[in-house]
Amino acid sequence: MSLLQELVETWPPSEETRGGGYVRAPLASMTPIAAATLGPGTRPGLAVVVTQDPAGRLSLAPLARDAGTWRRARPRDGASTAVVAGVASLPELADGFHFERLVDPGHPQGERAIGVDQTNESVVVGDRVVVKWLIEPVLRDPAIVDLPTHLAAAGFTAIPTPLGSLRWGVDGRIATLAQVAAWLPDSADGWDWCVTDVLAHVLHGTACPGDCPGIRLGARLGELAGALHVALATPTPLIPAPVIRADRRLIGEWHRTALDALDRTVAAVDGAALAHLEPRADALRARIDTLAMVDTTPMLRIHGDLHVGQILRSGDRLVVIDLEDDVSLPVSERGRPLPAARDLAQLDSSLDHIGRIVDRRTDGAHGAAVDAWVDHARQAFLAAYVETLAAAGHAELFDARLLVAFEAERVCREMLYAAGTLPRWMYAPLGTLRRMIPR
Ligand SMILES: [Zn+2]
Repeated sequence: MSLLQELVETWPPSEETRGGGYVRAPLASMTPIAAATLGPGTRPGLAVVVTQDPAGRLSLAPLARDAGTWRRARPRDGASTAVVAGVASLPELADGFHFERLVDPGHPQGERAIGVDQTNESVVVGDRVVVKWLIEPVLRDPAIVDLPTHLAAAGFTAIPTPLGSLRWGVDGRIATLAQVAAWLPDSADGWDWCVTDVLAHVLHGTACPGDCPGIRLGARLGELAGALHVALATPTPLIPAPVIRADRRLIGEWHRTALDALDRTVAAVDGAALAHLEPRADALRARIDTLAMVDTTPMLRIHGDLHVGQILRSGDRLVVIDLEDDVSLPVSERGRPLPAARDLAQLDSSLDHIGRIVDRRTDGAHGAAVDAWVDHARQAFLAAYVETLAAAGHAELFDARLLVAFEAERVCREMLYAAGTLPRWMYAPLGTLRRMIPR
């Protein structure tokens, strides 16, 4: 009997409730469609299953077998170590699964979970390598270039070195299930280091030193985003003509997608969120409708999910992560060129979210200082970004006319995410909305 048959007959595997306030659909609500054991040479009884929900969305789960019964694997069960071993030794896998190797990761041992978010679970193996499970994998045209590979070819070094991946293919399309990359020791997640720096700055009051990291934060992120976009716009053998132009028809599609996000948000939220959103819906619509005035604009492959949580700090170095899973985009737009302003709107919005987090941590006691920091950080961010593009001869990449519309779409998408996946996050986009459109 194949593993898939065995899983179908015993479905669902047992699993624990997810931590951190995230909502995750139970495996019982999904159907297993492909499965493979994670190769010889590792602990027997480790596997990966790809599932589909009634709407056709894919999901995956690493599995471990205890006493003949499958359950969702936890960090330290060895599933991530097995993926690293697979990238090192490239064993044959069943059912359309395969490993890809860019760099031999060696054989690190010992697992430690470092984070769970909407769609990823990351596990550090042996303090050298990180395995990120893409819990909601997406099937793509295999011709779509991996951005980390393009960036490496363009000489961009502010990313973790990609080592390889676990993939699954069906009907000529490929989904990345787990990525393996070099781990940066002592790296801090963007939501941690940014909030820490801004919290410290807000508490400085009038005694803020000249070299305050909180004050420099906006400009540093602007320089990094600029350098990232310059590298993405650099021709490489993988993407020889990275910058192309969007026409009126395509801009019209972005316009409809953004309006749809607004409509879905109004339908998805309730209570206090709806009470704040409803009277601002027309103003959001008007901002999104500014896209109707744009006839053509440059576009390129962008990060696609660029917020401060995607920027690790390791020592004095900043590193951009998660370049392969632009989960904030509708599936139809993933892997396609988009305007740089879309990344800008998201990173810019996340500066406001830092402000909302710091405001909440200080119980609103420093509200004016928080808002002053957000205003300063966003201005410094945009100025440094524009300057970095100009210095590299790529000023044309950023079409500032698009920013207002994409920021309005972003606040909707954040509220949708909170409503569907992380209810305790709702206060942040709600605060951003109320600052964006005061009443
Ligand atoms: Zn300060």
